[in-house]
Amino acid sequence: MCGILGYVGNGNASDFLIEGLRRLEYRGYDSAGIAVYENGKIEIEKKAGRLVNLEKALESHPLRGNIGIGHTRWATHGKPSDVNAHPHGDENNHFVIVHNGIIENYEELREELQARGYVFMSQTDTEVIAHLVEWEFRTAKSLLEAVQKTVVQLRGAYGTVVMNQEDPNRLVVARSGSPLVIGYGVGENFIASDPLALLNVTRRFAYLEEVAEITRRSVEIYDREGQKVKREVHEGNFEHDAADKGQYRHYMQKEIFEQPVAIMNTLDGRIVNGKVNIN
Ligand code: GLU
Repeated sequence: MCGILGYVGNGNASDFLIEGLRRLEYRGYDSAGIAVYENGKIEIEKKAGRLVNLEKALESHPLRGNIGIGHTRWATHGKPSDVNAHPHGDENNHFVIVHNGIIENYEELREELQARGYVFMSQTDTEVIAHLVEWEFRTAKSLLEAVQKTVVQLRGAYGTVVMNQEDPNRLVVARSGSPLVIGYGVGENFIASDPLALLNVTRRFAYLEEVAEITRRSVEIYDREGQKVKREVHEGNFEHDAADKGQYRHYMQKEIFEQPVAIMNTLDGRIVNGKVNIN
């Protein structure tokens, strides 16, 4: 399972997404990609291998827009390749998604969708989500409803962010078992699978329940039954450089050398007069 990102605001979505992908690099990955709404269309750029491959591709094909999604992939279904890299879309890229995790029942869903005429481009389990959202949207009143109707059909642990070409002001996010955090900005909002990816843009976070609809000005969170729920917004007090390698050569070395401080912080206040205080 690797990383996902989302942005909606007035800023340059690509800049946020690329910086976020850089901050997620420490998790390891085999490909990376972004999708940005630009001039009435969702444009996708994705490349197998290191982030620099994606950055090079973006040099000759820059994406400029105010809403977008990004992904670093750790392949579970389908080899690492440009085609299997995320984001994935339906045939016309009207619905474009990124996904972390595994859709356990993707084979049966794919068969059902193929029987309805959907054509698959990749070998991933992920692609079923894009086509399913397209299918559900035909009878839904909104993207939110289409995603809610889609996720009840999925089995497995996942986090996903969906964007729609016809409604370029909102992202719909869904999760089950995979971590997803919403970062609150001013006139802009963010999504990430790891809060460390957002520390350069916000310290205000809410952890997602089931589904959320995010615009530049609002965050609406829904539970499994589709009821709106209130989630507390936390002020993250992460160490400023927690996402950076700092003076170390790689993240494993950083982790090793930070162990004494990590243990001290964990035990701090929990040992009183030689006794462990578990309250
Ligand atoms: N199962 C998906 C794939 O293989 C997502 C993997 C991930 O979490 O990066 O493309």
